[in-house]
Amino acid sequence: GQCTVVCPTGALQARDQVDVANDYLTDPGIYTVFQFAPAVRATLGEEFGFPAGVNVERKIVEALKKAGADCVLDTNFSADVVIMEEGTELLNRLNDKNAVLPMFTSCCPAWINFVELHKPELIPHISTTRSPQAVMGSLIKSWLPEKKGIPKEKIRSISIMPCTAKKDEAARQALAKDAVPDVDLVLTVREFAKLLKGKGIDLRKLEGQDFDTPFMSKGSGAAVIFGKTAGVAEAAARTVYYVLTGKNVNSIQFKTSEHPHVEQELTIDLGEGKSPLRIGVVHGLANADYIADEVLSGKSPFDFIEVMSCPGGCINGGGTPREAGDYHPFNLERTKVLTTIDEEHSLRQSHNNPMVKELYKEYLGEPNSHLAHELLHTEYQDRKSGKKLRAEDIWKEITLC
Ligand code: SF4
Repeated sequence: GQCTVVCPTGALQARDQVDVANDYLTDPGIYTVFQFAPAVRATLGEEFGFPAGVNVERKIVEALKKAGADCVLDTNFSADVVIMEEGTELLNRLNDKNAVLPMFTSCCPAWINFVELHKPELIPHISTTRSPQAVMGSLIKSWLPEKKGIPKEKIRSISIMPCTAKKDEAARQALAKDAVPDVDLVLTVREFAKLLKGKGIDLRKLEGQDFDTPFMSKGSGAAVIFGKTAGVAEAAARTVYYVLTGKNVNSIQFKTSEHPHVEQELTIDLGEGKSPLRIGVVHGLANADYIADEVLSGKSPFDFIEVMSCPGGCINGGGTPREAGDYHPFNLERTKVLTTIDEEHSLRQSHNNPMVKELYKEYLGEPNSHLAHELLHTEYQDRKSGKKLRAEDIWKEITLC
């Protein structure tokens, strides 16, 4: 199946952007702003000889500072912002009897490519909220210059991501301001390891340090689980549940689905007279393909569906460390890192993140506001190729591997 097709290291050479990152880092006229995805802290350690399952978040911050980064931010912060935007969008759709449902998540660019190229009829079902990488990129080129008084032109925004599809996402025209991309450069986890090794920075020798900026660096436990399958759905459920019932919950138990193409599901009872909210979790493109057709035929039982193209989610992304023979679609050790961070976190819900509150209070107004729409939402294009491809060819096409 598609889960065995990964980017061979050699194939990345043509797009190896480690040299570009080094140019940015050494140019005194450039202010470098880094962000790294939830899955990166659960996977990078393996490149430096740590066993799978070690959280290297604080070491990444120190390594980036040693490498010369001017500012290090956490994609967990923007994952919380995504929940505010996407959650509000879902609630608005649920309250509008003419709205298109079910709504799909939009944070996996390989899934978006798949829809645009092969199932464009599904576009109205996709959340218009940008992915966490793109939300952070947009804020790096809007809120950050205002807050820090740094000219936008001096900033280069660089993200460390679990897959090459994130490079393709960063290059989307709709995710640029005046033709300048919000994210200038994307390094995969393996490319980032190469950059650090090239500078003689060994993760094993670092103690680790906290994020050094007072904003856009704090994420909730709900945000960090974006990196594993069912994480976005649960993060959204915690916030939607709060909005609908007034109660904060630290976790919500999804159950294994009996639907053969749905991994997990959740039904939230919304009280008498109201239909319950049904959430489905899908991973792997073969499953997503099936579910897409089910939705298009009007037979889906769900209101909200999470899709991750990689089996297991981003912790198994094509740009994460690979060792011959150790690949498993559910990398339990990597999954556990994110689960543990969430469980030990003092802040479990996106809507309770004080930095997120500050963003809305100071800058955006409220979720789905005019400015939030302009900066944090996007549109999709019908790019139907008409080509009939085998699943593994489709996988290569949309993940650019
Ligand atoms: Fe990339 Fe895979 Fe995550 Fe999708 S699920 S964003 S393809 S790593």
